[in-house]
Amino acid sequence: MLILMKPDVPREDVEQVKEKIQSLGFRSHEIPGAQRIAIGITGNKGRVDPDLFKSMSGVLDAVPVSKPFKLVSREVKHEDTVVRVGADNIGGRMLTVIAGPCSVESRDQILEIASMLREMGVKFLRGGAFKPRSSPYAFQGLKADGLEFLREAAEKTGMHIVTEVKDTETLSLVAEYADVLQLGARNMYNFSLLEKIGETNKPVLLKRGFSATVEELLMAAEYIVARGNYNVILCERGIRTFETYTRNTLDLNAVPLVKKLSHLPILVDPSHGTGSWELVPPMAQAAVAAGADGLIIEVHPDPEKALSDGFQSLRPDTFRRLMDRLQELAPMMGKSLSLDTSVVTT
Ligand code: PEP
Ligand code: MN
Repeated sequence: MLILMKPDVPREDVEQVKEKIQSLGFRSHEIPGAQRIAIGITGNKGRVDPDLFKSMSGVLDAVPVSKPFKLVSREVKHEDTVVRVGADNIGGRMLTVIAGPCSVESRDQILEIASMLREMGVKFLRGGAFKPRSSPYAFQGLKADGLEFLREAAEKTGMHIVTEVKDTETLSLVAEYADVLQLGARNMYNFSLLEKIGETNKPVLLKRGFSATVEELLMAAEYIVARGNYNVILCERGIRTFETYTRNTLDLNAVPLVKKLSHLPILVDPSHGTGSWELVPPMAQAAVAAGADGLIIEVHPDPEKALSDGFQSLRPDTFRRLMDRLQELAPMMGKSLSLDTSVVTT
């Protein structure tokens, strides 16, 4: 159920509707819009009677939401959501680039790649410290030390940190260091973790599961938003198909589809989406052409020596050429590439 308020209603009308929702044992979600305020209702088991609200002062209409996902749907909020990270925005007119190694491997490695990327203007640094690996024998990440190295890199360069949160036990630790929490494909169905992230206020990059439908991705986002954290950024990172030449099949349909169904920003990960560094630049450009709000790309100073995902990591010079192409492409899509070459690193 969505309560639409009349334009420019007094604040007390909004408060009264919210109190009414709470008195019925439900949760209210105020959704500001350019024209008018809307108030979403969650926590109801069955249908809520619209007549309970229609006669209230300031209420324009009370309408049921047809989709299974409510708060993340376009029906509920027409305007694109822009997620703020420090002084930067993700979504709207921005084309955001998040880059860095798959894993933080050492202090020197992350500091080296961070300063290379920062010189190219990249504002968001990725790097896993807690790595959910398919094999228990594979490198599992530097854990707390990795977070410290990321913080040092952030302090030296002024970049924002994007790093994965693997489980509920380490969430509060990772949240202390991360500017954006990454929730990986393997955890998209981890409802306890989604709920716990929903109780924080941290921006979250929610990656699509290997076999998740777009509807399931949006339902996972709904878990986070329903708990009060509206700072969700979606990420298409490829799904499993019968094709074996690529690691995953990058489902670029998801980009315009999510844009139609939801107001949340959507980024694309062409590194995991292809599993092959040579395919990353063309698919990154295709993602931008499809209307993505940004990209998350694995870049490593020496991919042959990488402890994870070297085969799909770009060398810094290849990454730089891709950024040059995106500078040309972004304006054609009505976007502005969020690179900032004005800051000199220390
Ligand atoms: C990653 O970004 O390194 C990663 C593990 O991604 P995904 O969860 O999409 O597999
Ligand atoms: Mn990776």
